[in-house]
Amino acid sequence: MNEIWLSNTLGKEKQKFTPINPKEVKLYSCGPTVYNYAHIGNLRAYVFADTLKRTLKYNGFNVKHIMNVTDVGHLTSDADQGDDKMVKALKREGKEMNLENMRSIANFYFEAFKTDLEKLNIELPSAFPFASDHIKEDIEMIQTLLQKDFAYKTTDGIYFDTTKDTHYGRLGGIAEDNDHGRIESNTEKKNYRDFALWKFADGTGLGFVAPFGNGFPGWHIECSAMIEKYLGTPIDIHTGGIDHIPVHHNNEIAQTECATGHNLANFWMHNAHITIGEDKMAKSGDNFLTLETLSKNGVHTLAYRYWLLTARYSTRVDYSLDAIKSAQVAYEKLHAHFNSLSNGNGVVNTEYKERFIEAVNNDLDTPKALAIVWELVKDGELNQADRKATLTDFDKVLGLMLGSVIKENIEIPEDVQKLIEERKIARENKDWTKADELRNQIQSKGFEIKD
Ligand code: AMP
Ligand code: ZN
Repeated sequence: MNEIWLSNTLGKEKQKFTPINPKEVKLYSCGPTVYNYAHIGNLRAYVFADTLKRTLKYNGFNVKHIMNVTDVGHLTSDADQGDDKMVKALKREGKEMNLENMRSIANFYFEAFKTDLEKLNIELPSAFPFASDHIKEDIEMIQTLLQKDFAYKTTDGIYFDTTKDTHYGRLGGIAEDNDHGRIESNTEKKNYRDFALWKFADGTGLGFVAPFGNGFPGWHIECSAMIEKYLGTPIDIHTGGIDHIPVHHNNEIAQTECATGHNLANFWMHNAHITIGEDKMAKSGDNFLTLETLSKNGVHTLAYRYWLLTARYSTRVDYSLDAIKSAQVAYEKLHAHFNSLSNGNGVVNTEYKERFIEAVNNDLDTPKALAIVWELVKDGELNQADRKATLTDFDKVLGLMLGSVIKENIEIPEDVQKLIEERKIARENKDWTKADELRNQIQSKGFEIKD
């Protein structure tokens, strides 16, 4: 059995991974807030979780993977202020404020999210529990926290008392004292880091029935409650983007540990952001790119996956269409090469496999794994059937669908369409030099012409 080493935010170091139950790894990923389309930064979080899951499976583990769907309770600010993001979506879409409309918006963006995952060849989790279907579990956990005196009531909700949890903030990044004045506006909170477990319905009357007062669960409680229900704590690995470390994940840990008396997760793993310039790509911002935007720019979604794999999940990457287009050229070459290899009774080459597994087991070193793939591709000493069998094996982790036909409909940009038209005319005029030149120009824009 090969060793797996993973960077653990808890402890801030690479640690050897050993599952709690050798038969099945328990993995949880914070899922999407379904008030809008996922952007390509969000999708990095899920390609990362998928690569992790595929690596665990490649090592012979079964993986039970749960991903929540936040369709209620996520406020526009992490500091328990602002609108609920779903309420904001109702307003944006001009819909009447009621729970049914909230759910229908959630269903719409959830379906769009699932389509994105499928296009990226991300294996779907074992379950996708919706927050609004688990209000009962939230209420039970909040009642436990009230009974154990970890929570208190104010006029606008139920809050977690962070000073009662001596380990609060174990993941790091929590607000410092000097942030106090900036983020605090609720004078009833006992401590500025205390966070809402439940918010009472405001003037709109919108909310769920609860013994301590109708309203909405806080965003953090849904993850703690669903992890308990679907996986049972402690779990092996919890994933999410680095933006979740300071507030959401520290709060998940606090709630679970104080309610259950034990550890939430042995490993916490976080992907770095995709930025545009200096800014994080954000759903609430105007620097927001989706898979559809990429497709309109001639990018195949699996080329986007390939591009993500060229960097470590823990490295911040700046969005660049040119860089993604270069990755697309490499991806198409790899794809074409794979399909040109003759079939046969090939066997997986053990030397390459050993190096590949060592790379991915070293905290998912996908750039190194891709370098090994290219070495293998160019290795003329190895017969074609063996190369093909080995690449097929590696693709279990990479998820690049090397054996499939690239059939996604990419919207062809206007400038490329113009070049195609010009080339057609050149060919009709038997001007082969010009036609070849135009073909090269089209190729440099990431498109291939098949006459
Ligand atoms: P959300 O739908 O906003 O709750 O976010 C879904 C996931 O995407 C979370 O794990 C976030 O941490 C992650 N995320 C958000 N923005 C980015 C970004 N720009 N780059 C990478 N991951 C991100
Ligand atoms: Zn979460």
